Amino acid sequence: MSELRYDPVKQIWSVIATDRSRKPDDFLVKRLEFREDEMTVCPFCKGHESKTGTEIYSLKGSNGWATRVVPNRYPAFRIEGELKRTGHGIYDAVNAVGAHEVVIETPRHDINPGNYTEDILYNLFYTFRERVKDLKKDTRFRYIMPFKNYGLLAGSNINHPHSQIIALPVTPNIVKTKLSAALEHYHNKERCLFCDILDQERNENTRIIYENQDFIALCPYASALPFEVSIYPKRHNHCFENTDEGELSGLADITKEVFGRLYKCLENPPLNMVVHTSPPAVKRPSQSGHWASIKEDFHWHIEITPRLSGVAGFESGTGFYINPVAPESAADYLKGAGN
Ligand SMILES: [Zn+2]
Ligand SMILES: [Zn+2]
Repeated sequence: MSELRYDPVKQIWSVIATDRSRKPDDFLVKRLEFREDEMTVCPFCKGHESKTGTEIYSLKGSNGWATRVVPNRYPAFRIEGELKRTGHGIYDAVNAVGAHEVVIETPRHDINPGNYTEDILYNLFYTFRERVKDLKKDTRFRYIMPFKNYGLLAGSNINHPHSQIIALPVTPNIVKTKLSAALEHYHNKERCLFCDILDQERNENTRIIYENQDFIALCPYASALPFEVSIYPKRHNHCFENTDEGELSGLADITKEVFGRLYKCLENPPLNMVVHTSPPAVKRPSQSGHWASIKEDFHWHIEITPRLSGVAGFESGTGFYINPVAPESAADYLKGAGN
């Protein structure tokens, strides 16, 4: 029989198939094909720097740039202007002040997450860190999120390896829920919710895929979608931007392992990767004292989600997901896919 499982961080229920799990082969989906001519027109390739708009940041590599950060061509949010809150009767609005940046992850065009090198991932996380630090200085922003879309079903139609960073004038509900869950757990127990989850996962050892000195990768207990993976730093740390260079190397290593194993098991799946760091701790008139324990109660993490099918009516109506692969089975497949 299936089982309903509750996620104590996201506070959602998922329906998990615990007996007849589907296999990785059941999820092969349409891939993004390379076209012969695309590198000649790609705005992210080396030599085409003038096609991208003013560079915001770049990391130097041994042979020119290693990463570049440029403005999104079709930004959902714009950096200019004052934040204005308005009300129209029952409806609230905020003008879309924010930032929407694109991180070009490498000068190489023809490489996908499954065969990224550790260098590419180190440079990517280093760039994320520097940009988040900078964007956090802007007190108009309430949430800053680096993320990656790879493949058509994950929302990307450009093959050149790239990620995005978005800075928002409001806190998304998914993030609010996580922050409240973490705060409540800390109030009740004086412990970090995420550290507690990691302790239990280590004891049970049925959903851990891989770990190194500083990080651990696992399939979450109440995974909403098949083959979801979360990566946590072992050291309690609320803030991704506090990650030092040694830890960035560990992060590059574990992400390479996770991407490589998903690639092997699911044949280069479309995927999303999201970095969840603590929000800028700016005091708001309505919430004085809100961030008093953020350093103790929140724990930054990464969520990687292969996009293997669309959202169905049941999901959109209930917010419950039906996951046909138990996270224990997904973890077994991914553990087995290591070298
Ligand atoms: Zn390119
Ligand atoms: Zn913690």
